Amino acid sequence: MGEHIPMRMCIACRAMHPQNEMLRFVRDIKDGMIKPDTDKSLFGRGAYICKNGKCIALAKKKNGLARHFKCEIPHTIYKTAEELI
Ligand SMILES: [Zn+2]
Repeated sequence: MGEHIPMRMCIACRAMHPQNEMLRFVRDIKDGMIKPDTDKSLFGRGAYICKNGKCIALAKKKNGLARHFKCEIPHTIYKTAEELI
């Protein structure tokens, strides 16, 4: 048996990848804003995007994060995501 690595689905391409290789976004319980979980300290149900420009662009085009969290999210979040890859 190998080491168990949780797999998560990319909201853009729908492929499954190990959680630790993806960008994670969560709703911050303090201010309700959707944020990238850059230091893996935010709790809650996350949305995941592959760490590549193609998936970030696709997520932006599909409004993926807004659809996932069912709220309006400024498109600047995708620029922030690009800076994290
Ligand atoms: Zn992807």
